[in-house]
Amino acid sequence: MRLETVCVHAGEYLDAETGGVNSPIFTSTAYEYLGCEEPLYQRYFNTPNQEAVVEKLCALEGAEDGIVCASGMSAISTALLSFAQAGDHVVLQDDLYGGTHAFAERGFPRLGIDCTFAPCDPEGLQAALTDKTRVLYLETPTNPLLKIIDLRAMAEIAREAGVVTIVDNTFASPINQTPIPLGIDVVVHSGTKYLGGHSDLQCGAVLARRELMEQIREIATHFGGSLNAESCYLMERSMKTLSLRVERQTSNAMVIAQALSDLPQIGAVYYPGLPNHPGHDLAREQMKGFGAMLSFELADPTASAEDYMSRLQMIHPALSLGGVETKICAPATASHRTMDPEARRRIGISDQLLRLSVGIENTEDILSDLQQAMG
Ligand code: PLP
Repeated sequence: MRLETVCVHAGEYLDAETGGVNSPIFTSTAYEYLGCEEPLYQRYFNTPNQEAVVEKLCALEGAEDGIVCASGMSAISTALLSFAQAGDHVVLQDDLYGGTHAFAERGFPRLGIDCTFAPCDPEGLQAALTDKTRVLYLETPTNPLLKIIDLRAMAEIAREAGVVTIVDNTFASPINQTPIPLGIDVVVHSGTKYLGGHSDLQCGAVLARRELMEQIREIATHFGGSLNAESCYLMERSMKTLSLRVERQTSNAMVIAQALSDLPQIGAVYYPGLPNHPGHDLAREQMKGFGAMLSFELADPTASAEDYMSRLQMIHPALSLGGVETKICAPATASHRTMDPEARRRIGISDQLLRLSVGIENTEDILSDLQQAMG
């Protein structure tokens, strides 16, 4: 099956009794177990609605197995703690989603896990690795500056050092990027974003080859962050339109990025689809599309990002991303607000930076709203 067909059909649970074309929602939290090799139980990640979603995700990501979790952070913390324990060292990219950064910075010390935030180019990674490093954690394109990390190169260095690689593939979605065929071990998602796609569902996923998933599943079962049947159904339903939505959002983002680049009120536009983006060539090689996230800076260094957002009429200033509606936020006061301001500026996040999650609306409407708010 090709991508669009996988989105619609992979994993579908055909209801032989009624001939219904959608998976029924299995509401049971108790299943008869006599004669069963492996009893079904929601927290064991093995009920029919969970398996329907996982099969679709595995087909999209090129993974053998997976679990669906109650949120992206549930997936991320479970994946990290499946391979790192007290005494171990973890290398994380220095430019990460704020929640993951906070978990490593403040949560790891309580668990006796040491970590280094490193620039993830080959030299930066080599310098950060120690003989205690067990995990390399990456995100590409990065949030919010859309830097592109060379996944093949990172996977090769990590493999030689015996380090498990985890990639947060939320920003690209499997429509635009599949890290596992590039050599990455584990993919995590905040399904709250593109997979759900309608800003009405919180979920996450961890995907990997079978042998790694055994270890992840055991830890995940202890943590108990599985997804309920109703949400699994919504996730499956949403993913049927994943390629349609993401392809449209991606082509919209290209139009918006180009148009913003020409405006005098805009200082810089960060979008890997623009030829002047430092990661453009790499993105062209490792991604199927450039994604639908972009960031831009207001040219006036005294301008207030909050004032700008308050003048928008259609675009919602809101946390989160990936929905069908265009959303905007200022990372300094949203995703990265808990980060030390000096460290934030060091990685290039100014107070004038705005991050746009491009939706499926008409690009002329999106652009005219962005422009009218510039005054
Ligand atoms: N990863 C990325 C890239 C994110 O942007 C987010 C949330 O914004 C998360 C993970 C966390 O996901 P969730 O809010 O579903 O826990």
